[in-house]
Amino acid sequence: MSEVDKSRLIELLEYPRQRILQSMELNQCPHAGFFNQTDMQCINCHQGMECTWMNHNDENIAVEQKTMEDLRQQLLFAVDFIDSSLTPHHLSRRHCECENCLWLRKVQTALNIPARNVS
Ligand SMILES: [Zn+2]
Repeated sequence: MSEVDKSRLIELLEYPRQRILQSMELNQCPHAGFFNQTDMQCINCHQGMECTWMNHNDENIAVEQKTMEDLRQQLLFAVDFIDSSLTPHHLSRRHCECENCLWLRKVQTALNIPARNVS
């Protein structure tokens, strides 16, 4: 894939980054969201997945240094996250225009994965 595709994927990380950050209860986190892989509290934290993701993808990280495969994996996790936050209302509408559904469709196109929930 070309550099253009890569910058497109990086752009797509922007939206889930905000959503995941909003969903996290950082006031309950003793590390203010900085994942510490040697801390048992971090390892057992119910927000562990989201937190690890954020720590790999926040704007301080040089995402452009990542490989395409890496970016793809990060986006696939984000797809699961956004997808699971949607109510069945969205899933039943093939052409829902909310920002979640629009983002999901963009990622599906960019990563060339088949759209789910299409009957
Ligand atoms: Zn929707």
